[in-house]
Amino acid sequence: MQKRDSTSPIQHYLQHLHDKYARLEDGAVATYIPELGQADPQGFGIVIATVDGQIYEVGDSGTPFTIQSISKPLVYGLALETHGHRHVATRVGVEPSGEAFNSISLDPATGRPMNPMINAGAIATTSLVPGEDDAARRLNLTGALASFAGHELGFDQKVYESERDTGHRNRAIAHLLRNFGILMGNPEEPLDLYFRQCSVLVTARDLAVMAATLANGGTNPVTGRRILQPHNTGRVLSVMTSCGMYDYSGAWIHNVGMPAKSGVAGGILAVLPGQLGVGVYSPPLDSKGNSVRGVRACTDLSRDFGLHLFNTPRVVTPALKSSHTGAEIRGRRLRRRGELDVLHRHGAEIRVYQLRGRLVFASIEPVIRSVIAQASAATHVILDLARVVDVDPASCRLLLDLADHLRRAGVHAHFTGAGDQAAFREYIEARLSAEGWSRLAEHRHLADALEACEHDLLRRHESAAFVDGDVGLGDQELCRGLTPGELQDLAARLVEIDFPAGAAVVEAGSASDSMYFIERGEVGIFLVNDGPETPPLSTLGPGMSFGEVALVDRDPRSATVRTLGPMRALRLSFEEFDRLEDSGLGHLRTKLVANLASVLAARLRSANREIASLR
Ligand code: GLU
Repeated sequence: MQKRDSTSPIQHYLQHLHDKYARLEDGAVATYIPELGQADPQGFGIVIATVDGQIYEVGDSGTPFTIQSISKPLVYGLALETHGHRHVATRVGVEPSGEAFNSISLDPATGRPMNPMINAGAIATTSLVPGEDDAARRLNLTGALASFAGHELGFDQKVYESERDTGHRNRAIAHLLRNFGILMGNPEEPLDLYFRQCSVLVTARDLAVMAATLANGGTNPVTGRRILQPHNTGRVLSVMTSCGMYDYSGAWIHNVGMPAKSGVAGGILAVLPGQLGVGVYSPPLDSKGNSVRGVRACTDLSRDFGLHLFNTPRVVTPALKSSHTGAEIRGRRLRRRGELDVLHRHGAEIRVYQLRGRLVFASIEPVIRSVIAQASAATHVILDLARVVDVDPASCRLLLDLADHLRRAGVHAHFTGAGDQAAFREYIEARLSAEGWSRLAEHRHLADALEACEHDLLRRHESAAFVDGDVGLGDQELCRGLTPGELQDLAARLVEIDFPAGAAVVEAGSASDSMYFIERGEVGIFLVNDGPETPPLSTLGPGMSFGEVALVDRDPRSATVRTLGPMRALRLSFEEFDRLEDSGLGHLRTKLVANLASVLAARLRSANREIASLR
């Protein structure tokens, strides 16, 4: 929890806001509950809590006061969590009443209170607090409020007694609710619990954390505990939007634009869903029952920080970071020259879409549009989620529907980097089973998926360039154009070696003394600083060689080459190579060097294409 960082412009702003309204003397402290009249009218605190748990506070942010009506939406949330919306809806509606908070506005036919923010609805909601007996219900209720705040909360016995002894109107409401069968049993019991819930002590800081919990989909950002399910959080915020600020609710949402709830002790809790919570404390109330300074401070905050929920022309950042074809970007496997030609010609059959950020309807919709528009030329579509922050349920559904659509059109769909997207995984497993998930997200990294797609492309285009087994000396890339005699001369100078899996054939930094032709298996190229978990920078397979670049410059090794499984290679020492000239085999030497140059040229071209496409 960060406190009073005076260097922050946000802290600075709050200080300014506090100074601006601290001298405002309008309004009067509530006295209809006699004990509330004791409140200090000068008390004034403002707090912002972000959805990642940062706190900015100013003034009397730690002064305790009774929560009063601000408990109503929180207890409504508890009732929803416990009984589900269907059941709760039989006891309390969600329509604004247009009448005062303590009005006796019940549906004439059913007796159901209009909403949980007026006292009648709140008492009905409180009667839904779970528990075997009074003591258990009390514990559950205070426990729920405490979990919103993130710590134990105090209780104002005097305010409780004061309200209990004078709350005749609330008592009348409770008995009326009993008459309509909205309350069962003795109405004094839920009524007492309601008086108690109103007398729980909070601070402006607590209100801000409670608000941030609602802004954070129901998970307390300070403790990390989930208090409400996201769908119940949405319901709570909805009634706060329409009914949270007494008879000022319409003007509030119009002017400030944040779901909020105020209480007669002078607190206001306001929520900007997805971003932050605000808590304000200042006891003098206006004629509608809202804190005068609280309303002014929230109005300024909303205007100056752009917090109005409905003033958001565009919050969605495009989900498509970049899109490429398999002709532009490559997996880790370095390809032989002939293979590179095939990939260059047919690589457009592989389409790669790299997504980022938060996937919601408006960000995923343009991606779906481009994938479908380009799918007719594709045989593989890779959707890379490695940079995605979150996939909402709508996007889970749309992505999977897209994969279905592609499959029906004969296109293979792959998701990479999806391992960390728990919601997406759950969604796929629920719809397709665990097997469906592993099929769609078979490859962890984009490079692996690309390699598999390239492999399929090379196989289908049955190019002579494609080799899928052992490669003897004659078919080695560096031996192109060698006569049988030259091959024999070369073979006589080579040593065949079998390496086990994980062998470092070449070590970065060591002296260069030979090169290798791979006959069977694969090797990975690793940079000096790569940890044991780091995948190779690139891989090489049969028909390709490594260690040959040093043939040109004789510099020490710049990378480590490790086998990725059992590997067989032919080793040519530079000593043997250097002797070719003297043994009358200068023509062989020239051909090898020419082939080396052409291999390097092809790789350079391919790398340049990739770099250009990433610009
Ligand atoms: N305990 C208070 C009552 O029922 C709460 C009123 C409020 O904060 O709106 O009168």
